[in-house]
Amino acid sequence: MRISKLFGKTQREIPAEADTVSHQLLLKAGMISQVAAGVYSYLPLAWRVLRKIENIIRDEMDKAGGQELMMPVLQPLELWQETGRDLAFGKGLFTLSDRRQRKLCLGPTHEEVITQLVSRNVQSYRDLPLLLYQIQTKFRDEPRPRAGLLRVREFTMKDLYSFDSDEDGLNQSYNKMLQAYHNIYSRCGLPTRLVEADSGAIGGKDSHEFMVIAEGGEDEIIYCPSCQYAANADKAESIKSKIDSEAPLPIEEVDTPGMTTIEQVSHFLKVPQSHTLKAVFYLADGELVFVVIRGDLEVNEVKLKNILHCFDLRLATETEVIDAGIVAGSASPIGISGIKIIADDSITSGANFIAGANKPDTHFRNVNYPRDFKADIMADIARARAGEGCPECGGKLSSTHGIEVGHVFKLGTFISEKLGALFIDAKGVSQPIVMGCYGIGLGRLLAAAVEQSHDDKGIIWPLPIAPYHIYLCPLYLENPQVAATAENLYAELEDKGLEVLFDDRKESPGVKFNDADLLGIPIRVTISPRTLEKDSVEVKWRSEKESELVPLEGIAARLKGLIRDSL
Ligand SMILES: [Zn+2]
Repeated sequence: MRISKLFGKTQREIPAEADTVSHQLLLKAGMISQVAAGVYSYLPLAWRVLRKIENIIRDEMDKAGGQELMMPVLQPLELWQETGRDLAFGKGLFTLSDRRQRKLCLGPTHEEVITQLVSRNVQSYRDLPLLLYQIQTKFRDEPRPRAGLLRVREFTMKDLYSFDSDEDGLNQSYNKMLQAYHNIYSRCGLPTRLVEADSGAIGGKDSHEFMVIAEGGEDEIIYCPSCQYAANADKAESIKSKIDSEAPLPIEEVDTPGMTTIEQVSHFLKVPQSHTLKAVFYLADGELVFVVIRGDLEVNEVKLKNILHCFDLRLATETEVIDAGIVAGSASPIGISGIKIIADDSITSGANFIAGANKPDTHFRNVNYPRDFKADIMADIARARAGEGCPECGGKLSSTHGIEVGHVFKLGTFISEKLGALFIDAKGVSQPIVMGCYGIGLGRLLAAAVEQSHDDKGIIWPLPIAPYHIYLCPLYLENPQVAATAENLYAELEDKGLEVLFDDRKESPGVKFNDADLLGIPIRVTISPRTLEKDSVEVKWRSEKESELVPLEGIAARLKGLIRDSL
């Protein structure tokens, strides 16, 4: 491809809201262009990357026994109402009405459609297992589209669904997919880490995510350096620090003038935050809930949502708290009625806590559970943190950040039961089909590759997904010998089936090198009057600092060998 003809120009100015590296570099490189919030066009260079990722994914899905098919984006909302997942997805689901006022939605995922399809085609256990997949456009109405291709509203996804006759079969399908996913990321040149994940709105039991470790990643990962334990912070568990228990003392009121936060109260009364009880108020599907947690811990809203089985969860406003008759800043679980109290199990460790008194400028000292109040639900709803104990081995947990590039779920039978996807087992008994689902967002993977592999000059594409392999970069094209050598080499490389981006512009060396670095093509081949004096070209890997002079004679064959060995 000649750069002079390439659609899409490198950009000097990029919008200020582009705050992640991949967003900035992809815009700067002229590879993507925003159409609306979270909606992007892929220009030719990015589209080539996406197609390479797609080919690797398809190849691995086929090798694992997957069968590719294609389902519609447009889906009847009724199908979603049958599983109840219209409510689970909530506002994330794009819905619309047709001219006859029938409700439809744009598929954010395809469990319902494929389960219906499978139920029409599977009768007996002999028809199972099945691994069915598609690579197709999905829609999710993200509340905050951001970070370029990392959080979008329209995206291409590979989604595979497994159908088995029992749990053993599901485990086998699940393991097959874990292996296929490892192969995909490895072939894309993208190291990932497998972590335990929350099942979210999809529902189901076991779930794992593949994470690309990146400083700018929006997911926090809690992991144990001493064992294999690793989990998304949404899901992670920990052994919470224990507080020495002491004999319960009589409860008493204490004046705390103007003190409303845990920090203020603990500082004022000279007790550690771990000796206080924090009250946090949420609205769960419109109902106010009172959450009590030890003062040194934070609420994990994903765990809380799962415990409450609610669709919508948000912090209550101060007005909503006051309207419920609670004194904000001094809220107390003691003597309260008519509000559901959810307590983190941390409050059972320790004694004689400071807690609110539900009276302005007043707190209670020596609050003890369960002597002084009862919780409707007691569970682990705290956010696990680095420094706490590993739930597997007791070691000290660490934390890092990552970008999720793949998510797999053991769904079990809840969708097949709701949609009546049954089969007759070997004993002649009707059973629901056991399901799993497995997704990879292609644009996300592309962006994650940029997040993981770049420098201050631009992108450094891993060779297997690079838009082109070679950046052919002749300098001083007005020199007839340079021009002729470049044209000949370009023709020869193309002839050998190599993917070449030919910088045929009459630009300065500085401009050409800057663009080469920005676009991140793995191998730069420079031809100049100086290299030609030595009958050579300069070969430089984008990922390396040093370049190398290589004889012009036989260069095409040598480059072909180099690329073949590195793929
Ligand atoms: Zn451990």
